[in-house]
Order: sequence, then C-alpha cells, then structure tokens
Amino acid sequence: MFYAHALPIKILIVPGHDKEIWGAEYGNIKEADMNLNLGTQLFNILKKDKRFEVYITRGKNGYTKEFSDYFSKNKAAIISFKKNAKEENQIKIDSGTFLNKTGVVHNAVNEETAIELYGINKWANENKIKVVISIHFNDYPRPTRWTIGKYKGFAIYLPDSQMANSPESTKLAKSIFTELSKKYTPSTYKKETGGLVSDENLIALGASGTLDQSVDSVLIEYGYIYQKIFRNTTTRHQAYLDMAKLTAKGIGNYIISLSP
Ligand SMILES: [Zn+2]
Repeated sequence: MFYAHALPIKILIVPGHDKEIWGAEYGNIKEADMNLNLGTQLFNILKKDKRFEVYITRGKNGYTKEFSDYFSKNKAAIISFKKNAKEENQIKIDSGTFLNKTGVVHNAVNEETAIELYGINKWANENKIKVVISIHFNDYPRPTRWTIGKYKGFAIYLPDSQMANSPESTKLAKSIFTELSKKYTPSTYKKETGGLVSDENLIALGASGTLDQSVDSVLIEYGYIYQKIFRNTTTRHQAYLDMAKLTAKGIGNYIISLSP
C-alpha cells in the first residue's frame, strides 16, 4: 500500500474540557469525563495501528507532560500567535475577503482555556499533525442538570469552506460520519440537521486560520449528554467503545483514500 503522506501519519486526540471546566453535565455525569473515556478508547485502538503515531492531550491526571510543558514554556508565544491570527482574520473580514457567518452559537471560552486551545493548534502545526479529533458530548441550556432535554444524536463539526484546511477535513468528517451513522442517528437539533456542520468560529477547527492547510480537524459531538444510552453506566461505557471503534474505522478509511 502506498500513501500520499509520509508514514507514520500523526493523529492528535483532544478530549474536550478538563477537570476545572467540565463542559456539559447531566445529573452527576460530567462531559469532561465522558470525553476522556471515549478519547482514551480511541487512543488505544489507533495506537495498535502501525501506520499511525497517536497523541492525546490529557489523561486521568490532567494534561500530559508534553502539553502542560508546552503551555507553560510557550505561553507568551501562544498569546501572540492568537493575537496575530485574530488581527489578520479581522483584516480579511473588514476587506470582505472572509465572510463572518454565524452558525450554531457556542459557549464563549475563558482566556486560559482559549490559550490552551490555540496552543494545541500551534503545537499541531509545528508537529506536522495530519488529523486532529476533538471529542465532546452535546448539551443546551436546560432548567436543571436533571432535566432530560429534547434533542438527541451526534454531529460532526468541520471547518467552514473558507478555511484552508476545509477540503481535506470535510472528507475526514464524511468518512467518520459514514461509520457513526451505521449505529447512531444524526442530531435532531435544527442547526445540526444532517449531522455535518461547518463552522468557522470553533478554535478546535482552526478559527482565524490557526490550523495549517495540512492539518485536518473535526470536532465530534457524540450525542446529547442526557440521552438514555448515556444515563446508564453499562450502556454508556459500551457506547464509548462502540463510538471509538466507528471513529477509528472512519479515520482509517479516510487515510486509505489518501493513497494515490
Ligand atoms: Zn464540550
């Protein structure tokens, strides 16, 4: 088998959020833990594949040494990377060469989280990462954390067509979508109709041009946190494994499609 890209192909898994800012919650279930569980399963599956060199941003004890060191040693550089990218992007918006679209509204992140997310992008560019997979579970404002919401299903966010890494990322997203949809249904939330959602504002996808053209990035919302399948411990853990397997299959098929 020949590949258009040098082997090994580098893959970065980013389980969303962390212990301090855990994202969504239902009852006593926190999104950050779910993301880590699924992300670790995906890491373990991909690691067995000789074609891949796999990285993950965090484990049970928080950010891995690679990333916590990178954030602390490069803080000033990350801040200017973020600032320059935003300024350049604003120039494009002002001159009309980049259209600022509003799609699904996401929660704003605090400054420290933003530095970590832009830091991950900077690291991915520098380390020639081919595929970045950000892992999340979805939510929307509900009266209490025990309220079962009305939307369900998965959605894969991909970089907007104006972004340099959009064409390849779109192929990756579609390949993962094909696999996930064999077992799970796409989101029933109107703005996520069809399950493939392009977005230019999510940092993880390379907002303000912060991911190189060669870095394919998708952000997967695997389902709404209050769904029945996630409320029961057994079915939740089975879902982590099944979802990780399908995601790995989608990534594998995409990589094969890159061969000449
Ligand atoms: Zn999230």
